Parts: sequence; C-alpha cells; structure tokens
Amino acid sequence: MTAVIFPRLALIGIGLIGSSIALAARRAKAAGHIAISTRTPATLKRAEELRLGDSFHADPADAAAGADCVIVCVPVGASGEVAEKIAPALKPGAIVSDVGSVKQSVIRQMAPHIPPGVHFIPAHPVAGTEHSDPDAGFAELFDNRWCILTPPPGTDAAAVDRLAGFWRALGAHVEVMAPEHHDMVLAITSHVPHLIAYNIVGTAAHLEEVSQSEVMKYAAGGFRDFTRIAASDPTMWRDVFLNNKEAVLEMLGRFNEDLSMLTRAIRMGDGQTLFDLFTRTRGIRRSIIEIGQETPAPDFGRPHGPQEPSTPMPRPYASDD
Ligand code: NAP
Repeated sequence: MTAVIFPRLALIGIGLIGSSIALAARRAKAAGHIAISTRTPATLKRAEELRLGDSFHADPADAAAGADCVIVCVPVGASGEVAEKIAPALKPGAIVSDVGSVKQSVIRQMAPHIPPGVHFIPAHPVAGTEHSDPDAGFAELFDNRWCILTPPPGTDAAAVDRLAGFWRALGAHVEVMAPEHHDMVLAITSHVPHLIAYNIVGTAAHLEEVSQSEVMKYAAGGFRDFTRIAASDPTMWRDVFLNNKEAVLEMLGRFNEDLSMLTRAIRMGDGQTLFDLFTRTRGIRRSIIEIGQETPAPDFGRPHGPQEPSTPMPRPYASDD
C-alpha cells in the first residue's frame, strides 16, 4: 500500500482526467484530503454526488489554499486564467502541476503567476478516452500508461521525485522530458492522428454521392475506428491545435509529403512501394502490442457474433490523450 504522498491534494477542473486522478489517488491512498473546484456549479454538484473528493469549492483559490499539490485539469487554453486565480492561495513548498496535452504553451501561460517558493512541475498523462465530464473518470485510466513531466530547468529535484512518485502510485510510468520535445512527439503520436480522424469523418459526412445511411451501415470497414477519436471533446482539441501550432504544422508538412508519395504510387501502379510501407506499418503495430500499450485481440477486442444492438462495447483500451 502506498503511503500518503500529498496530505491535501487540490484538483481544479473535474472532467475525465480530474475525476480519474481523484479515483486513482483514492485507490492508491496516495492523497489525504482531496479538494475539488470547477467552473460550472452543475459539474461541481455532480462531482460531489459521485463523492470524488472531500471538499468542494466554487472558488479555485479555496481548493488550492493549504494544498500540498494542486493539479490543474482544464483545457489548455484556460490554464493561465486558473493559475492567476489560485496563485495568492498557494502555500510555500506546494507543487503546482497540470495535465495539459501541450506543454510549452501551458508553461508560457502558468509560469508567470507561480509565486517564489512554489514548485511548478507541468505534466501530461498520456492516457484518455473520447469521453468527458466527471462521470467519465475511472481509477484504472493511468495503469501502465506514461505520464510525462516537463519541469523547468532548476526545479527542485525532491519535488519532481514526489510528483513522479504520486503518478507511479496512480499506476503510470514516468518520464521527464523537455517541453519542446514533448510537443513535437505528441504532435505526431496524438495531435495529427486526431486531426486526420476529425477530417476523414468530416469528409465522409460531406460526401454527396454516399448517403449518410451507407456511411453508418458500412462503418466497420475502418471508418468506425476514426469516429471514436473524432468524438473527442471539441473544446479540448480546439485548444490543443491552437496551442501546439508550430509542431502540428511541422508534422502536417511531413504527413502531406508522404501522402503525396502514396498518391503517386497508386497513380503509377507502384505496388512495391505500397507493399513495403504497409509491411513496415504492420511491424509498428506489433511493437506497440509487444510493449503492452495495446491489446493483441482482433478488432480491439470488440465482441463479435450475435448480440443485442444496444450491447455496450467493452471500454476501449485508453490510448488517446
Ligand atoms: P473534460 O472532461 O472536458 O473536463 C474539463 C474540465 O475543465 C471541466 O471540469 C470543466 O469545467 C473545466 N473547464 C473547461 N473550460 C474551463 C475554463 N475556461 N475555465 C476553467 N475551467 C474550465 O476534459 P479532460 O478530458 O479532463 O481534459 C482536461 C485536460 O486534460 C486538458 O488540458 C487536456 O488537454 C488534458 N488531457 C486530456 C486527455 C483526454 O483524453 N481527454 C488525455 C490527457 C490529457 P466545468 O465542467 O465545470 O465547466
């Protein structure tokens, strides 16, 4: 059993990630008192009904007051505003962290508000689903997933170790990385794939020659897997693209070059180029399975055979961020 790492933990924002941290921290007994604040009264009430914390506050400063660790779990574009509100309440020696999917922008927004004597350690748990809100959280979300910490140079090593220990207690593996490297890696592993999913689902929806019902009916041909990603939270993903512009544009440039190469191979009937690429990509999927970041079950383990149309799918392997 883990010893309590933070006697008082404050979570600002209680959607999928905030509620999952609350549940995972409870499971691990890694936090003593959990104080929760969120912007909308109805969300705060729901968090209370779900007993996600011990105290519930309309004002984020009240949740942050006296906390050993404050984790800001709001869309990336709102992180500066939240940091400004909690700053006067932070106690010396406290850790302030976040969970945003982009790191350089969060640092630009939050760092100017963090008072001296408070340790600012940005973080990104690379785990998620397409669901939002406090009801979406589950304690196992971070199990065997990575959490990337991007402490600014000179950050107190003991504070970094303490936060790393907290994430490990929640089930995650921890890696420390420079924020600009994080943003480039995540642009290709997460942000561009989400953009492709949003785009392909949008294109299919606009196609005039294919009726909507045919798109739905034959969705299992591959389209369906894109629709899961394209159902992700619009506010969160708008903020990701607006706040990781350079890295996403860089990776989109490379993607477009490779797409042009594939377009040309198809036009020229160059089967060898297609076959070679598809063989390499199959190997990449095998590697992801080998390191335990994906299920080897066919079709992501979806049940097949006769079922009620309303039978819920098993919870997908949490893989988005
Ligand atoms: P979510 O389920 O949509 O919850 C967002 C929370 O932020 C809600 O509590 C919401 O409050 C609050 N919020 C929204 N706009 C706000 C604003 N302008 N000011 C203050 N609070 C605001 O989102 P999430 O999936 O937990 O994502 C939260 C963060 O985690 C994002 O930065 C995202 O990049 C990162 N992240 C997400 C995933 C993922 O897969 N979803 C994975 C890793 C990291 P109210 O409901 O009270 O308005």
